Amino acid sequence: MNGNWVESSNPEKMEIINPATQEVIARAPLGTKEETNEAIKIAKQTFESAVWSGQSPKERAAVLLQIADKLQENIDVLTDLEVQNNGKTRREAQSDVEEAASTFRYYAGLLTMPNGQSYEASGDIQTLIVKEPMGVAGLIVPWNFPLLMSVWKIAPALAAGNSILLKPAEITPMTAVKLFELMDETDLPKGAANLIMGVGSVVGQTIAESNDVDIVSFTGSTEVGRRIMQAASGNLKKVSLELGGKSPNIIFDDADLETAVDYALFGIFLGSGQVCSSGSRLLVQEGIYDTFVEKFVEKAKAIRVGPGNDEHSQMGAIVGEKHFKSILDYIRIGKEEGANLVLGGNRIEKDGLDRGFFIEPTVFTHVTSDMRIVREEIFGPVVAIQKFKGEEEAVRIANDTDFGLAGAVFSTDHNKAIRVIKKVRAGITWVNAYHLTNIQAPWGGYKQSGIGRSLSTYGLDEYQETKQINIHLEPKPIGWFE
Ligand code: NAD
Repeated sequence: MNGNWVESSNPEKMEIINPATQEVIARAPLGTKEETNEAIKIAKQTFESAVWSGQSPKERAAVLLQIADKLQENIDVLTDLEVQNNGKTRREAQSDVEEAASTFRYYAGLLTMPNGQSYEASGDIQTLIVKEPMGVAGLIVPWNFPLLMSVWKIAPALAAGNSILLKPAEITPMTAVKLFELMDETDLPKGAANLIMGVGSVVGQTIAESNDVDIVSFTGSTEVGRRIMQAASGNLKKVSLELGGKSPNIIFDDADLETAVDYALFGIFLGSGQVCSSGSRLLVQEGIYDTFVEKFVEKAKAIRVGPGNDEHSQMGAIVGEKHFKSILDYIRIGKEEGANLVLGGNRIEKDGLDRGFFIEPTVFTHVTSDMRIVREEIFGPVVAIQKFKGEEEAVRIANDTDFGLAGAVFSTDHNKAIRVIKKVRAGITWVNAYHLTNIQAPWGGYKQSGIGRSLSTYGLDEYQETKQINIHLEPKPIGWFE
């Protein structure tokens, strides 16, 4: 509080577990409603004091670059913490830290660009369209990319001049704590960035409801996103939501088979399938269906699952017990619904992996669009493969979902690929690739996958107010009532 680390008054602690071993690696505080309100008050006072919001873009950029350097210097520590707390592989965790540093650098760079517009409304009226910080930004993030999702919000929110309050997911706070320790070592004014740990229904809900928060930016499940939107209605704060997905990956007969199989695996098994944009619905054209499934299953079977800190592991653990059980439940539901389980479906117990939460790469075929494993986000290493006849059917199946986060098309007929991808109702899409993206492009979903965009210039705009200033260049009375 007030730029210092303080103990929560709540004696209850959350045991932070390494999901690869179930060892307790830390005990985290669970902030109370009162403490959350206190942190919001500090963020508000800091904003109003203008110690950060009043700095020039150039000064703010310099601080963001300091934070980026700190992340880069501490890449090994942050990677270790992410591996231990989230269960992902070192390769994945290290790439997250690098991306986090790049995100701070990108927004520092954006601050060197003009931000706004000017319009000559008439000969003597000049209109300036200026961008201003919103005030207090409440940032609520999930556990799948604990550091990166925090930074996707913190970097643009601070760049815009807001004061922030971050709430990490209760089960993965480790890298957020380290990030705030590192930010403490920079010239960021005390009170501009605040961290509060705790459960969603207390800390998250208080942030969403608070009349002193001006924007709530949330990444997480669609269900909680809906709750946040309701809670935010009290003071009509801005709501930015990055939610779930059930993304279609469409493979046509004329696709380069090796590339399509490779990206289909990357699309679903990266991060053990705990990635919002995962290609969890594979739509394969009938001519190559059998060959594709055979090759895909053969390669999926060979994926080396294991602890993230083992350099041989290609796929890590599931983040925690509750989520682990939910994935296994969905696999059971898939079988009960009549889908054909052609690979995996079990907890992995060999080679000491029974101590952690490991699930085999799992493949279902013979699925139909009404099955729960096709409609609901499983968020694990589970893919459902559907067969389609032609272009029209592929588009219909792809769009037969409440979500609209991501999607991909594989085909060597580029005209067809572009025609089809334009019809896929999703915000993040690929042609002959999957998951490749960059900070310069806006990230977000259609339909129930969210509202607003992260990253890119859109991401900065998310945390800014827009004001028009009309300047009379030759002031004289208007004479309206004469
Ligand atoms: P979650 O919705 O359960 O929790 C996300 C965060 O919200 C956590 O910090 C949690 O404590 C908090 N929260 C829970 N209840 C709350 C409430 N009532 N009010 C305020 N905050 C509350 O999600 P999760 O299980 O941590 O993450 C997985 C989900 O996140 C998946 O659905 C995934 O698709 C989504 N996700 C989306 C993106 C994206 O960019 N679209 C990125 C990553 C994850």
